[in-house]
Amino acid sequence: MADIKDVSIIGSGPAGYTAAIYAARANLKPILISGLQPGGQLTITTDVENYPGYENPIQGPWLMEQMQKQAEFVGTKIISSQVTKVELNNEIKKLHLDNGDVIETKTVIISTGAQARWLGIQNEDKFQGHGLSACATCDGFFFKDKIVAVVGGGNSAAEEALFLTKFATKVLLIHRRDELRAEKILQDRLSKNPKIEFIWNSEVTKFNGDVDLNSIELLNRKDNKKSTINLDGVFIAIGHDPATKLFEGQIEMDQNGYILTDPDSTQTSIKGVYAAGDVKDKIYRQAITAAGMGCMAALEAEKYLD
Ligand code: NAP
Repeated sequence: MADIKDVSIIGSGPAGYTAAIYAARANLKPILISGLQPGGQLTITTDVENYPGYENPIQGPWLMEQMQKQAEFVGTKIISSQVTKVELNNEIKKLHLDNGDVIETKTVIISTGAQARWLGIQNEDKFQGHGLSACATCDGFFFKDKIVAVVGGGNSAAEEALFLTKFATKVLLIHRRDELRAEKILQDRLSKNPKIEFIWNSEVTKFNGDVDLNSIELLNRKDNKKSTINLDGVFIAIGHDPATKLFEGQIEMDQNGYILTDPDSTQTSIKGVYAAGDVKDKIYRQAITAAGMGCMAALEAEKYLD
């Protein structure tokens, strides 16, 4: 008889590992397929100061390594593969892996996460964690009394800029057009905040610095003039892409590709399939909220299997 798993988890960020820890401790012998970037978004950050339980800053990659070890210690089997195709609509679901294996499973927890969009310009990789970030909630604290810029014109850019005014002396909001996409109420708050300065119709073309970012180059799209601005940090807020391509046509998603779940639940549109973390959350996007949802997903899977 085929080896049918109780719980299979796709993705290895805080949501996936937390789901694995809870499912393993419920004796469900979960497997976790770790994907292309084991550990997820936290593996490309440095200091983490907002994950409870640690007095001093910890490193993102270290935190993910600990979560992986904890998940394995309690009985999770981790598979270093990628899922290439899913069949979710039957009672026994199938996950096809890139090595040709097919996993049969009664429940699936989707925790494939999301990725911040980056500008794709020179030196962007070099300065991530060294003055360049895509998360003000995570890294804003490190820019006390500094000058920072936020790139983008949507709700995220507006919220990040407002949040950063708590720390920075000046926040430049750089947008490629001359009007924001952000909601009116946020636009009003931005205009009223004396620390915010708008730079319209402008694109960042280059990041400069030695180890840490110290200036950016801009191109004005209206008059083609170039300029350089000295600053200490830049926050890119031009949107996120949830990793949900694999599930298109099977699971209900919103217009931006985030998986839809029942209220106060991780239950997706398919019975036995749960979604946790950034793959379903475009508002909070924190390691701790993702971990909380991973816990919920495992408890819901356990109840379903009962
Ligand atoms: P968004 O609404 O898609 O806005 C992205 C912004 O980045 C746009 O202003 C866009 O410019 C700009 N942009 C995109 N690509 C760019 C590039 N290559 N270079 C420079 N600028 C670029 O994304 P978001 O702000 O992350 O929000 C995503 C969703 O979450 C939205 O539905 C939003 O309403 C929601 N959200 C809601 C809240 C809230 O309710 N409190 C908070 C955060 C997010 P253009 O305007 O020129 O296209």
